[in-house]
Amino acid sequence: MRIETATEPGSPQRPDEDFAAVALPASGQGGTLVLLDGVTPHRDGTGCVHGVPWYVARLGGALLELSASRRDLTLADCLAESIARTAAAHAGTCELSHTHTPQSTVVLARWDEEAVEHLVLSDSVLLIEGESGDVRAVLDDRLDRMPEQVRAMRAAVRAMERGSAEREAAGAAYGRAVEALRNAVGVEGAFFTAAADPAVARLAVTGTTPRRAVRAVAALTDGAGRLVEVFHEGGWADAFALLRKEGPQGLITRVRAAESADPTCTAYPRGKRHDDATAILAVI
Ligand SMILES: [Zn+2]
Repeated sequence: MRIETATEPGSPQRPDEDFAAVALPASGQGGTLVLLDGVTPHRDGTGCVHGVPWYVARLGGALLELSASRRDLTLADCLAESIARTAAAHAGTCELSHTHTPQSTVVLARWDEEAVEHLVLSDSVLLIEGESGDVRAVLDDRLDRMPEQVRAMRAAVRAMERGSAEREAAGAAYGRAVEALRNAVGVEGAFFTAAADPAVARLAVTGTTPRRAVRAVAALTDGAGRLVEVFHEGGWADAFALLRKEGPQGLITRVRAAESADPTCTAYPRGKRHDDATAILAVI
């Protein structure tokens, strides 16, 4: 097995809010992979005294332990239990019903001799390389399927001059429209993250692939996946080829070069000039 991981914060002044871990249980041909991307705290606060890095470390640690040790639980069960465990760890000190309670995207993959299971929640991506080298991207694309009027607001904001009062106001309005859809169970166009409610686990994108049909898997936070999704430097298969050739660090270095070539975010519109970027490659 070849396992490689790299992570790089978007800014040296801010903590990296991504989390990556792989466990290879000693018992045989199995393994488990966990990748999280903590959601940047909202300007209105989070109701939590601990912060997003604390949250992703707690959630990621629970996910790694449960997915590796409890083969009897589905990955969705592992996620529900991990969210519940993390919520219990700060229910006494923090306001968990706060809309912006610390939260995170989730990618899980677990393999044994028979199968590769996966789970994706929110906008990090899992790539599955098949036996013939084909690459399949598993995405939870709810953020891209937000109602048309919300997506139009985002496009309008990104077309406005950076730093202008107009952009500031339109950006705030867009932010409020998005926040109304965050973890809004039952609302049309809603999207979901791991936060304090275990019920979102059943809304994750899940699946199982026969082990013999999988050569490798990779997981990318959106700060790394933007090489494909924002900069269009090839497709997911090209990103996978880059991961195999130059490793996760090579891919992140390529992302930083693309970002630096467009410092004003005009040629390639994006929310942050640089974002935390993390990638895991597991050739199983
Ligand atoms: Zn807290």
